[in-house]
Amino acid sequence: MRSPLAVADVDLRAVQHNVQVLRLRAGVPLMAVVKADAFGHGAVPVAKAAVAAGATWLGVCRVDEALALRSAGLSVPILAWLDDMAAVAPAAASAEVHLSVSSLAELEAVARQRLAVRVHLKLDTGMHRAGCPVDRWVELVARAARAERLGAIRVVGVWSHLSHASSPADPHNRRQVEAFQAGLALAEAAGLRPEVRHLCGTAGAVGVPEARLDLVRIGAGLVGIDEVGAGLRPALTLRTRVLQVRRVVAGDGVGYDHAGRVKRTTTVALLPLGYADGIPRCARSAWVSWHGHRLPLLGRVSMDQVVVDAGDLPVRPGDEVVVLGRSAGAPRVEDWARWAETIPHEIYTGLGPRVVRAHTGTEGAQ
Ligand SMILES: *Cc1c(COP(=O)(O)O)cnc(C)c1O
Repeated sequence: MRSPLAVADVDLRAVQHNVQVLRLRAGVPLMAVVKADAFGHGAVPVAKAAVAAGATWLGVCRVDEALALRSAGLSVPILAWLDDMAAVAPAAASAEVHLSVSSLAELEAVARQRLAVRVHLKLDTGMHRAGCPVDRWVELVARAARAERLGAIRVVGVWSHLSHASSPADPHNRRQVEAFQAGLALAEAAGLRPEVRHLCGTAGAVGVPEARLDLVRIGAGLVGIDEVGAGLRPALTLRTRVLQVRRVVAGDGVGYDHAGRVKRTTTVALLPLGYADGIPRCARSAWVSWHGHRLPLLGRVSMDQVVVDAGDLPVRPGDEVVVLGRSAGAPRVEDWARWAETIPHEIYTGLGPRVVRAHTGTEGAQ
């Protein structure tokens, strides 16, 4: 087989290590959040590895993402939280996918279909992005309890999301936990008996113990984005190969508008990765690694390609270059995030479809 020009190697042992570390740390069941193709790492293999390592739930945004996991044979409970709930309720019911419900309109649209869909009622405890506003909650839980008594839905969970979890000492965390407990009390007063109450992602699972409750939803931590110093391991290494090299003389320029000026005569190397593959166009100070030597980007990032400055190193066509990842001397995802003034999540999810994902590291997850 021809070897691909650009490969993201995903080491599933790192995913399993991260699941084990975070389960121990949180001490409660773990939902592996594999939305957006597991942050670009491949949803099915990452989900299988996470479940093999002890994750007992899966989380996604769209029901289609959940159906793909079911088709791959994953049978643990799956929660989907961002979709057109009225439209996806039949598919969710037949695949036993749980749906998040944030409003009366969503509740009615799902309950009306009488499919006994499993729902998790979402309360807006202060993030103000999704969830039921506090002042509508009493009515939502009352209607949900009625629909449940009629067999139209099953209320399995009550949940919310923290807005300040990466700053554990921030008072918003405590306020959100309190608002959540108050919401739970109202749900119970309405006659609901949710089996799972869940409030936080990776940062909260590590830093906000009172938010762990019955389940923690781990996305970033799964793939080793470690904002909280939990000893997690990145899983992904992005490699490519040099396609062409040439000498460019001192004072000449490279690429569109000659945006890359060379001060001394140098060897430049062409790499077949551009912004369509996830190399941020704004990452002007970026470099890649050739056998541990740093080759800085030269000129603009094009859609499909980029040029790097190899100086007088004996770089040849076909040589491997590590763009991002775990090998010694390679840039880390945090370096790319800094160069592009973003977060690691956006670097990973930006990796395009031409980057082949290759999974290694666990039999159980093949
Ligand atoms: C993405 C997401 C998570 C996972 O959070 P991480 O910080 O990536 O672990 C949890 N809950 C919700 C609602 C999310 O959208």
